[in-house]
Amino acid sequence: MIKVAIYGKGGIGKSTVTSGISAALGLDGYRVMQLGCDPKTDSTINLLGGTPPPPILQYMQENGRPDRLDAVVRQGFGNVACMEVGGPTPGVGCFGRGMLTAFELLDEMGAYETYKPDVVLYDILADIVCGGIAVPMREGFADKVCIVTSGEKMALLAAKNIIMALRNFADRNYAQLGGLILNCRDMADEVERVTDFAEEMGTSVIGIIPRDRAIHTFEEEGKTIVEGDRTLPTSQRFFDLAKTIVGFGAERKAV
Ligand code: ATP
Ligand code: MG
Repeated sequence: MIKVAIYGKGGIGKSTVTSGISAALGLDGYRVMQLGCDPKTDSTINLLGGTPPPPILQYMQENGRPDRLDAVVRQGFGNVACMEVGGPTPGVGCFGRGMLTAFELLDEMGAYETYKPDVVLYDILADIVCGGIAVPMREGFADKVCIVTSGEKMALLAAKNIIMALRNFADRNYAQLGGLILNCRDMADEVERVTDFAEEMGTSVIGIIPRDRAIHTFEEEGKTIVEGDRTLPTSQRFFDLAKTIVGFGAERKAV
């Protein structure tokens, strides 16, 4: 099992990229768990025809601890086990604490034994990289961190902050940086810009997703582009990324 946290600036395309990878992995026969770590709870909707699963924190607030995993887990396209952490009580709760609660619950309820995932993907909003947002990077929750970015300054700044958070605590059993995923905004020299940034940061660009209207068209139907039409060149990029992610697992085994 390889656990990968996908971080990036708000609105940059984390959920689109994460769900596309999940869908490709599912079609390739891998067992996948996708955990949305964003109070908007929309990480997995395009694997589920547009309806998100009940958010874990809200479920617990209203009903206490669930008796069964399927109270908060839905099987989506490609048999992906889809979950959403949900959000803390506004103005009171801490999101980092909330993520920990949700992760611990899934662990205690045997989610990993039940779904036996080959790959676990966390989709994490990271406009601010406080200690709470860094929770999935720490202590075994994620093995690798991938960062979705475009060539835009604010996206690269967020990426830099995430890399710094990883580097600051590198000796504390933190996850390792897996690389950058360029989700294009169609800026001039965007590939070059992001490749240069990756080099500066001592990492690499592990995938490039073009700007593609079809992504939005299929999203209107509650689908990823991979589900919508797996033969499209953009869908192929997701299959390539899925292979790279599986490769992380092989790398780990070899260590
Ligand atoms: P948030 O931080 O709000 O969770 P996010 O980083 O998860 O946002 P998405 O929800 O994946 O971002 O994407 C935002 C919007 O951009 C979506 O409507 C999606 O369809 C569109 N989008 C993302 N990537 C692409 C792309 N490569 N081509 C075309 N549209 C895209
Ligand atoms: Mg999102």
